[in-house]
Amino acid sequence: MTSQTHDPIPYEQTSDYRWTEAAFELLESGALTARVMTNDNVSSAVVEGACPRCVHQFADRRALTVVTSGIGGSRSGAQGMGGTHLGEPGGTDGYQVVLDITCSCGVAHPIDASGAAGSNTAGGCGVSFRIELAGPATAGGRP
Ligand SMILES: [Zn+2]
Ligand SMILES: [Zn+2]
Repeated sequence: MTSQTHDPIPYEQTSDYRWTEAAFELLESGALTARVMTNDNVSSAVVEGACPRCVHQFADRRALTVVTSGIGGSRSGAQGMGGTHLGEPGGTDGYQVVLDITCSCGVAHPIDASGAAGSNTAGGCGVSFRIELAGPATAGGRP
């Protein structure tokens, strides 16, 4: 809706909470998508869509460390090692994943080096935000 210039906004490393809020609104509107795919006991999160700050398209894919329920043969439960502990061995199929995303739109946002050496650029606008994913058991959770 806003009609701004076509120049990329300057790079700025920020993790202000408003970008997390903006990302949530983009998720709600569908301009940004986040999903978890599980393949061969390895889960990965894929976040694609518009950056909440610079509005460029980006894609972020990363592996998740999710403890699955005991398939794999290691019978020695490493107790007291402080390992990842997700959920309870009860059978609820839901999961909750928190992703810290940094913009990786690939567009060269100018680093505003005031007076310093040459015109450096960065791929991505520098914003960091958080996305929380929960699923797939979403039976009447949201208002
Ligand atoms: Zn960008
Ligand atoms: Zn961005």
